[in-house]
Amino acid sequence: MSSQSVKRKLRMGVVLSSGGVRGVYAHSGFMRALQQLGIHYDAITGCSAGAIVGGVLASGTTLDNWEAGLQQMKPGDFWSPDSMVKFLVSHLLRKGRGYLGLSTTDTALRFTQTNVSATTFEECVIPFSSLAINLGTREKTVFNEGELAPRIVASASIPVLYEPIEIDGDYYCDGALIDFAPTDAICCKHHLDVVIVHHVAQSDKVDGDIDKLKQRPWSLLEIINRLLFRQRPWYLDGQPLTIQRCPCECGAIIIAVEPQLPELVWPSTKGCDQVQVSALEQAIEQLQPHSQSIVTGDLKKLQALVNTDLERYDGVRKGCMMT
Ligand SMILES: [Zn+2]
Repeated sequence: MSSQSVKRKLRMGVVLSSGGVRGVYAHSGFMRALQQLGIHYDAITGCSAGAIVGGVLASGTTLDNWEAGLQQMKPGDFWSPDSMVKFLVSHLLRKGRGYLGLSTTDTALRFTQTNVSATTFEECVIPFSSLAINLGTREKTVFNEGELAPRIVASASIPVLYEPIEIDGDYYCDGALIDFAPTDAICCKHHLDVVIVHHVAQSDKVDGDIDKLKQRPWSLLEIINRLLFRQRPWYLDGQPLTIQRCPCECGAIIIAVEPQLPELVWPSTKGCDQVQVSALEQAIEQLQPHSQSIVTGDLKKLQALVNTDLERYDGVRKGCMMT
């Protein structure tokens, strides 16, 4: 029997990381790149920005329709900070009691509801999960059932900027507090051969000079970024493309793509087109040499490229069992 005859269609998963507003555009460019390369997927998971893009596409919204909606997106569609009067009343009269964030999630929820094509996870055309943190138990929570839009927004509710979102009596906020990209939410659960991670969190902008931080727009957000992005995730090794094996030993190959992207200043969307195009072009450049192996099911060729240095996995094996 020839090796060609035993090849089968590979089962593919996509993991989209956190990444703020910039991440929403970057992931959209990345998903367009997968489409152009003919790479299909059998499961999607995401955190924060990744939950928004992943959830919308998994729900059945076409990439064309999503991109059209994104073109129209304004800061007011996802960011509605309280008025100064409300802020002062909350803090001077109520001493901040019950004040949980600078903006409600109402507008972001409406935007998400407008763009998804399914009401629940169960109705999604591709299995999807989103990552958040439960503020009551402080536990990592992977949502994969129930009403979709609130659980997407929960994953993207950056602490301090946004109020946490209440779901079934519990409060949740941005999953990036615990994990940038929930690879373990899908890679051992859908019999996947390959998991592609698109990592666009802004960890490279963090340095030790606080005075520099104070000169940047939205210094408050920079503080949050420093706290969130204090560690590099295990699936990156500093290269634009990293190929490794799943630390949980399910056998899946993990391909991580980390593009270098232009910055967007919160909450502006100015420059979003450049981010989207840049992410698309870099994904094509990095994945094209391997897309033929993926599309034709040449798993052996991909396995030969795996970085077999497993030492770094020691700290994440336990984490694999959490979900
Ligand atoms: Zn796995």
